Amino acid sequence: MQLKDKVAYITGSASGIGKEIAILFAQEGAKIIIADLNKEAADATAAELKATGALAIGVGVDVTNEDQVNASVEEGAAAFGGIDILISNAGIQIVHPVEEFSFADWKKMLAIHLDGAFLTTKACLKHMYAQGRGGSVIYMGSVHSKEASLLKAPYVTAKHGLIGLAKTVAKEGAKHGVRANVICPGFVRTPLVEKQIPEQARTLGISEQEVIKNVMLKETVDGEFTTTEDVARVALLFAGFPTNALTGQSLVVSHGWFMQ
Ligand code: NAD
Repeated sequence: MQLKDKVAYITGSASGIGKEIAILFAQEGAKIIIADLNKEAADATAAELKATGALAIGVGVDVTNEDQVNASVEEGAAAFGGIDILISNAGIQIVHPVEEFSFADWKKMLAIHLDGAFLTTKACLKHMYAQGRGGSVIYMGSVHSKEASLLKAPYVTAKHGLIGLAKTVAKEGAKHGVRANVICPGFVRTPLVEKQIPEQARTLGISEQEVIKNVMLKETVDGEFTTTEDVARVALLFAGFPTNALTGQSLVVSHGWFMQ
């Protein structure tokens, strides 16, 4: 049990990667706050975890709304006695060429990925600093934190930005034993990616199979998708690491799509 009695606030954890992290962290002994825009799905995920004997609650939150972020962090902290781990993971994807991207969609993307990361960090750091038992802040970046792809200007911009936020939180948090790191997955077959396959096929004028083979997995070493389990294992490494030796870092888990 690497996370026994740690409290983890995980955004976007009613689905995909966030949900897998919640499941693994619960198995490792953590108390889980499932924070998601979809409150019904958050409650259902919390119920699934509780059925395995874990401690979990679902909270509804739009990560772009400061009042909702603060209220949901307070609710989780009150339920479980503080916050030890933040996984800032909630995210969406919108794809268009730059010249066709609406300003409204650009702002929506930056709000969810960057404002959401900032607001949840601010709300959770308050608890981590006051508790005096350290903490771990983990941002869900992407290979797109390091590399660009066609049609994804705001996503690539936001995911690069998370590395700057993590480095700053790593420096400011060090004296409190708070570490900050970024996970950078390649393509993982979650609802976020399933939606992109037909969209990219339409925009690029190729088949869905070609999108998978020649766009998404083209640069991997073995033509394989990264899995939610792969990403959760990396999250556990960052969350369970005991010292400031591992902070301000970004780790790519992508079947070799991007090598640094
Ligand atoms: P997903 O669609 O399966 O899950 C995303 C979750 O975020 C959903 O439950 C959704 O309700 C929630 N959400 C969306 N907007 C929100 C908001 N404003 N406030 C609170 N919750 C909100 O997606 P996923 O693939 O699991 O993605 C999770 C994270 O991983 C995202 O940040 C994404 O950019 C990142 N990522 C995904 C992949 C991939 O290939 N799937 C690769 C690299 C990085």
